Amino acid sequence: MKKIIAFVSLLSFCIAANAQQDFYHETFTHADTLRGSVTPERAWWDVLRYDITVKPDYATKTIEGNVNIAYKVIKEGHYKMQLDLQEPLIIDSVISYTRFEQGRAENVINNDSIKKDGNTYIIAFEYYPQTKFDNYLKIVYHGTPREAKNAPWDGGWIWTKDSLGRPWMTVACQGLGASAWYPCKDYQGDEPDDGGSLTVIVPDTLVCVGNGRLQYKKNNNDGTETYKWEVKDPINNYNIIPYIGKYVNFSEVYKGEKGNLDVNYWVLDYNLEKAKTHMQPDVERMLKAFEYWMGPYPFYEDGYKIVDAPHLGMEHQSAIAYGNSYRNGYFFRNKEMIDLSKTGWGFKWDFIIVHESGHEWFANNITTKDLADMWVHEGFTNYSETLFTEFYYGKEAGNEYNFGLRKNIRNKQPVIAHYGVNEEPDLDEYYKASNMLHTLRHSMGDDEKFRSILRGLNKTFYHQTVTTQQIENYISDHAEFNYSKVFDQYLRTTQIPQFEFYFSTDKKKVFYRWDSCIAGFNLPLVLKNDDAKIKIYPKQDWQSMNIAGNQMALFNPILIEKMYYFVAKELQGMNK
Ligand SMILES: [Zn+2]
Repeated sequence: MKKIIAFVSLLSFCIAANAQQDFYHETFTHADTLRGSVTPERAWWDVLRYDITVKPDYATKTIEGNVNIAYKVIKEGHYKMQLDLQEPLIIDSVISYTRFEQGRAENVINNDSIKKDGNTYIIAFEYYPQTKFDNYLKIVYHGTPREAKNAPWDGGWIWTKDSLGRPWMTVACQGLGASAWYPCKDYQGDEPDDGGSLTVIVPDTLVCVGNGRLQYKKNNNDGTETYKWEVKDPINNYNIIPYIGKYVNFSEVYKGEKGNLDVNYWVLDYNLEKAKTHMQPDVERMLKAFEYWMGPYPFYEDGYKIVDAPHLGMEHQSAIAYGNSYRNGYFFRNKEMIDLSKTGWGFKWDFIIVHESGHEWFANNITTKDLADMWVHEGFTNYSETLFTEFYYGKEAGNEYNFGLRKNIRNKQPVIAHYGVNEEPDLDEYYKASNMLHTLRHSMGDDEKFRSILRGLNKTFYHQTVTTQQIENYISDHAEFNYSKVFDQYLRTTQIPQFEFYFSTDKKKVFYRWDSCIAGFNLPLVLKNDDAKIKIYPKQDWQSMNIAGNQMALFNPILIEKMYYFVAKELQGMNK
């Protein structure tokens, strides 16, 4: 999720677009580098777990809390650590201890040893943290977290009311970063390997929902209740989210590929009936289609959950945020339902249930280390919409849906953005990357192979953070063709290749080549219709082949462009 709002500017709606996504800025600040790169103060330690405790105050829009970070030392001899916490939140104290020294007072870090640099803190330990123990930090903090004005597009804490005027609170912070509300190593490449917990103290008139499973709920006899939720699996920082409101719950056991999956629906009390009639059927359809195409749901230990949210939606792991108004299509600007493909197929299902849940495979299971490679999240997830459409409405429907989305490709800048500066790519990471996957699939000409690659990616990189190179190499290796030039073309340039062809006068021969492409671009093409199927290997020099009568129809630009994202063009006057 993230940049649908920028996309709608393409539809020539008048909107205040997500500014950070709308231009290709080449200059980055010191703060961008601190946030987006593996600084020396980040490289030596690996986060094992976050245990977050927070108490929000609805009236004053403030929070207070503490975070326990468990980490291990992966490179010895460093004593300075970078932590991230965004202004105007304030760190009150930091306590450092090992497993055998929990809470020893002498390990309180002197305030002089904590240097603030904008949204980051450099903490100097008196001694090198030890490799032989797990190390811990307890960070106490408080303040007024940045408030989201246009969630989920801008990010921050959301203090709102439900339609009956009762308090409703949550957070959306993709892109902005989890350090907008709790101290952490705010870098996508380091997920807490052992998961984490979220303990929230809320008024006893409200309910708190978090990621994973509820560990306990207790009444504090002071008008508040404490909820503790826990995830066992690694999780992206920005996915750890509390939802606080008048929630009710129902659940089911879904019989999935890995056995019983606990599925929970947490919705506002007045949405209960709609959740049963609208939400539950699409969740079940989603699980069936996605397990078929992409393999088992990646978080059986933590269960699957979908939670009412006061914003459109987000892929919060094992607690998907839902705000699509319980209707099919995409709830555009809280106003009307639209179909992003403009083909009608997008009105057959609930966009947020399908898209945000698709991220459980690509974004939450397989996470990119650097934001620059986010096409792996958004491209595959966008393509999961095509796969869902195809699963329920047939191949032609899927092709149409994908082709419909193609009109949103901008080609203003490469799909892969700048590394090390926390820059998320242009929205071509959705539609262009998805069309590239559609292209690769048809180039393989073998849907079973393509499906086994999607499933294989989710198995091989299970609960891991990756680079685009790992994903590209995996696809090439398993497709048994080196697609590196094809990835370079689609992910690293804005040029659209052109496939040119013409026939000999007697129509017994066809000549073809690639043009408008990078040197070495070599996408093989499987061309097929109901009558015939061929595989050709065009190069940038003219190639030719003899064709039988029923093969000529395969060279039809409209047919070809439905299967592939490039320009197909028959050259006239070249016949010989
Ligand atoms: Zn997305």
